[in-house]
Amino acid sequence: MPETRIGLIGTGIMGRPMGHNLLKAGYPLVVHDRVRGPVDELVAAGAAEASSAREVAARSEVVITMLPDSPEVQAVVLGPDGLLEGLRPGTIYIDMSTISPIVTRELAPLVEAKDCQMLDAPVSGGEKGAMEATLSIMVGGPKEIFDRVLPIFQAMGKNIVHMGDHGAGQVTKAANQIVVALTIQAVSEALVLAAKAGVDPAKVRQALLGGFAQSRILELHGQRMLDRNFKPGFKVRLHHKDLNIALSTGKALGVPLPATATVQEAFTALRGLGRDDYDHSSLVTLIEDLAKVEVKPAG
Ligand code: NAD
Repeated sequence: MPETRIGLIGTGIMGRPMGHNLLKAGYPLVVHDRVRGPVDELVAAGAAEASSAREVAARSEVVITMLPDSPEVQAVVLGPDGLLEGLRPGTIYIDMSTISPIVTRELAPLVEAKDCQMLDAPVSGGEKGAMEATLSIMVGGPKEIFDRVLPIFQAMGKNIVHMGDHGAGQVTKAANQIVVALTIQAVSEALVLAAKAGVDPAKVRQALLGGFAQSRILELHGQRMLDRNFKPGFKVRLHHKDLNIALSTGKALGVPLPATATVQEAFTALRGLGRDDYDHSSLVTLIEDLAKVEVKPAG
């Protein structure tokens, strides 16, 4: 597979290290972004550069997008000088951005109408996972296409799962983001309650880690809250975007997500307070502001 020519559109926090890992695995790579810096860096590492999404498509057998949200993916695929104008029959298009599964399901038939195939393959694991090629990758689309590009995913990730048809990867990612957000909210409320009641929140975290309330969020983000370490990590603005995706998908399917809606409003409030670029564990600061207490170890 390393002779497969890969195109990469979107070389931001995630796309840049993913591009480096594709180069390290030996794939010929052509890159495009509207921002220069990371493109120059990847070109210095051996990639070629294209001036538009259309040109990337015309020069690649597999095209990957790693863009912020649904509107950017729609612009890059459908817009002037976009992917659809350049795709040649047989090309595989993999969207690794986190976007709406509804948008994914709208794009897939348009790609197939060009005699091409599409996969949705959002990731979790953050910048660290992207750099270390240990991303979890959740994939939707035809299984035989997944099997064909598996070596490409393996150059970027470790836990790589085929979830089902188009949009199944994005639905899985939305489910992931609901669980993470609601657990951060639960941990925040628990630790603020303890602090206000005069019980050491560090000890509460420790005690809960040994029981049924144990979670990675309590372990890692609970510690961040105690350390007052809100350097991202995963930014508030991105989690806000991901809960928007979950809520709009719920609305479209008639599925109420009341707790998700509440935490979404909490993220909205955080953004209003200028905490857009804080780590999402800073959700605790909102409860702290309301309760007039800070989650800090006693003594
Ligand atoms: P980013 O903002 O750092 O990178 C996005 C890149 O897309 C930017 O370089 C931007 O210039 C480029 N771009 C936007 N519109 C474009 C266009 N029309 N044409 C060409 N380039 C364009 O974002 P990121 O953190 O790399 O995230 C990318 C995706 O991965 C998002 O959907 C995000 O939710 C998801 N994700 C991020 C993380 C994380 O920890 N950062 C973790 C998991 C998933």
